[in-house]
Amino acid sequence: LFISFEGPEGAGKSTQIGRLGAQLGHAGIPHVLTREPGGTPLGMRVREVLLDPALTIDSLPEFLLYSASRAQLVGNLIRPALRRGDVVVCDRYADSSMAYQGFGRGLDAGLLRQITQAATGGLTPNLTVLLDLDPAVGLQRAARRGQPDRLERADLEFHQRLRQGFLTLAAQEPQRFLTLDATRPEAELAARIWGAVQARLPS
Ligand code: C5P
Repeated sequence: LFISFEGPEGAGKSTQIGRLGAQLGHAGIPHVLTREPGGTPLGMRVREVLLDPALTIDSLPEFLLYSASRAQLVGNLIRPALRRGDVVVCDRYADSSMAYQGFGRGLDAGLLRQITQAATGGLTPNLTVLLDLDPAVGLQRAARRGQPDRLERADLEFHQRLRQGFLTLAAQEPQRFLTLDATRPEAELAARIWGAVQARLPS
């Protein structure tokens, strides 16, 4: 079972992934928690490059770097774990590229899909949890956590496009997506997510 978490910064993805990991642990279900970009030694290096505020990275090379990290993650971590029968929980996956580099930065969706197909061999999550959040609230939350500044933080319009992007993707695949209001209490979200995961676990 392959599960991804999506949503803007400040939506509480890490918190919910932590809670899901703990639930899986309590239930004795072998699982792997990972993140994008990152998750492999190459991915960690790519992450440093992508998040380096001193670098200006154009949209296409940005997407290709995410794709490089993703290809390595799928081949070296996700597929082997799924083959062992582990549940894989990934903090961001290809939908983030569709939302950020596609809806956000305007790269062509067809091109993104083609390269993503090549990078992942078409591996798609069985469940994608979308933590949906009004960008104004999300930016406030991120600022409170004192995360390093990124130019786009101030760009509310970018974040509106991002939100619409995620919601559009979710509407296209309602079976795969569980869309949740990220302002709901943490425990309530965790319970809804656990319910959706249990429903998809092989019995
Ligand atoms: O929330 P997280 O730490 O995973 O996100 C890191 C940042 O990487 C995001 O806020 C976003 O700016 C960027 N990102 C991106 N395109 C992706 C995935 C993440 O621009 N495909």
